[in-house]
Amino acid sequence: MIKPPPLRNDCFALPPGVAWMPVPEALAALRERMAPVVPTESRAVTEATGLILAAPAIARRANPPADNSAVDGYGMAGPVPEGSAERPLVEGRAAAGAPFDGAVPAGAAIRILTGAILPEGVDTVVLQEDVAREGDRIAFHGPLKRGANARRAGEDVTPGQEILPAGQRLRPCDIGFLVASGVVEVSVFRRLRVGVLSNGDEVVAAGTVAPEALRPGAIFDANRPMLLAQLAQWGMEAVDLGCASDDRTDLRARLDTARACVDAVLTSGGVSTGDEDHVSALLQEEGQLHSWRIAVKPGRPLALGLWRGMPVFGLPGNPVAALVCTLVFARPALEALAGGAWRAPVGFDVPAAFEKRKKPGRAEYLRARIGADGRAEAFASEGSGRISGLSWATGLVELDEGARHIRPGDPVRFLPYGAFD
Ligand code: AMP
Ligand code: MG
Repeated sequence: MIKPPPLRNDCFALPPGVAWMPVPEALAALRERMAPVVPTESRAVTEATGLILAAPAIARRANPPADNSAVDGYGMAGPVPEGSAERPLVEGRAAAGAPFDGAVPAGAAIRILTGAILPEGVDTVVLQEDVAREGDRIAFHGPLKRGANARRAGEDVTPGQEILPAGQRLRPCDIGFLVASGVVEVSVFRRLRVGVLSNGDEVVAAGTVAPEALRPGAIFDANRPMLLAQLAQWGMEAVDLGCASDDRTDLRARLDTARACVDAVLTSGGVSTGDEDHVSALLQEEGQLHSWRIAVKPGRPLALGLWRGMPVFGLPGNPVAALVCTLVFARPALEALAGGAWRAPVGFDVPAAFEKRKKPGRAEYLRARIGADGRAEAFASEGSGRISGLSWATGLVELDEGARHIRPGDPVRFLPYGAFD
């Protein structure tokens, strides 16, 4: 395995003078800077679900491999014109896996089953439901278009054809397609290992303390299990790095541990410029840190940095902002680090079920869902502390940075959560 070179030290640096960056520009800048950081390996196709192709997959076989019948019926040799027709059947039959050995003379027919190779002379099949059979003769009504109910060899895939591009993350349907096309092994990227680190003295790991026994001011660490689950759903190897206290030494030790076992890290919390924002401070002092002031709501500055060459995505601590920033910014960037193609989430326009006067200057992502009437409902509160809205929603409504007065019925862009998969 040859490991690709690490990202450049200044990969997250922005040109001087960048103030608030619009979301599309931030995404374009990320796209330009991210490159695969994981080595490639060869895998059996059947073991490759969720992995990313490092090279195009090439068909080794035609699909279908031979002309064959699409139905159970009777194979026809020669044209079948308009009008009622009667044909003699040849002896024997053609079945899937048991081809007919011989030729069918023009004017004759043969019993044929779905998937059977068309015997020599046969190019068209009549459905058995459309046929009356008596002994070794059949009667039916023409015409039949030449090639009806038959599949042509290679009509779907031809050998040597590039069937899936490099950068494609293999879904279950792709596995079936690859196998059918005779692909045995694929070159894939090793799964990207992404560490998830929380921080904050008030943050307590789930399951360690009974809810009733939490000390005043403490909150459960919602981000870590949420982000670990999200990464796993994306086919990445999620590594739990725990929760650092508001203490540089602890944080430094955890980042060093991470450096030895993961390819990238998502941290949440501690990325602003407050006294206890140790993630940004430590990256600033001992690593590389660039605060991307992205014009987006929810989400404060996104801290993008490197810790001894390892990319660190510093997300806001607030769970709503952490998840939105993960979906919108971290997902495509991580996918690119993993060797995947850059994919923008595909949304669709639906009528709004709400009214909103949006101020100019920032793009906004509203927790939203599609109601029974097909319109996009927005969560009652835009307060990003309301984590319940994430579960109430089935996706996000994306509003660009312009000012806009949205009235019920106006089209808005809805991005289902699944668009980020
Ligand atoms: P911070 O960015 O560290 O100031 O955190 C912003 C807000 O998010 C604060 O209210 C934190 O308590 C909260 N927060 C930070 N980390 C987490 C976490 N892992 N789970 C839930 N809430 C968090
Ligand atoms: Mg904090």
